[in-house]
Amino acid sequence: MRAPLVELFWSVQGEGRFVGVPMAFLRTATCPIRCLYCDTQHSYTATAHADVQGQPKEQNPVTAERAAELLCGMPVAKAARNPRVSITGGEPLVFPGFIKSVGERVRPLGFRVHLETAALDPLALQHCIAQVDHLSADYKLPGTLRAGFFGRQHVECCAIALRAGVTVDIKLVLMASIGEAAFSHALTELDCVREQALLILQPVTPCGEVHEKLPPEVLQRCIDATEKAGFDFRVLPQVHKQLQVP
Ligand code: SF4
Repeated sequence: MRAPLVELFWSVQGEGRFVGVPMAFLRTATCPIRCLYCDTQHSYTATAHADVQGQPKEQNPVTAERAAELLCGMPVAKAARNPRVSITGGEPLVFPGFIKSVGERVRPLGFRVHLETAALDPLALQHCIAQVDHLSADYKLPGTLRAGFFGRQHVECCAIALRAGVTVDIKLVLMASIGEAAFSHALTELDCVREQALLILQPVTPCGEVHEKLPPEVLQRCIDATEKAGFDFRVLPQVHKQLQVP
């Protein structure tokens, strides 16, 4: 199993319930959608080589075996008490076989595998979920994408992970243009996973085509609605941006 990689590096998690936790990041290349706020546009196109922190570049595509070898060889991973790797993108679910194969190799060695995904492809997630310990799934609100809407796919992916016993964060990036009706519709769609998943309300970091910060009144409106709907949730910005780490 192979996948084109952008980079492999060690940093701290900047989003969701594991914010601040040191871990490795394995970033795959390519993504089938276009979010207006995308901060990883460099991942859209696979390049000939992947960057590996502290090592020579790797030729793409990289095999799961080699990715696992690179992960386990990172000095910080060797020293970590509970090493974790976040497989991110781009959109990593384009390569479910690669995710599964990396998990099969590193989990027996003590790694916990996090999957950060746009959650568009339930079949792909079903294929690899047995090798995932934590899912960070997006629910892309209408108006945050250049085109399309994937509400049902997001919910189905979350349900698959929860049935497999995986912890699930559902990330909703909030922008100034988020309409009240669209946010309310999202909460209604997500109600079927409300008891088990944690919602992450993430005020947008201006990037890409987004130049405006989230107005406090829009954030407050979203907080009020989420509380009223009975969700367990956190309001968290992208902490790695503030820390100025990758
Ligand atoms: S899913 Fe991720 S990589 Fe793809 S466009 Fe959206 S933010 Fe960028």
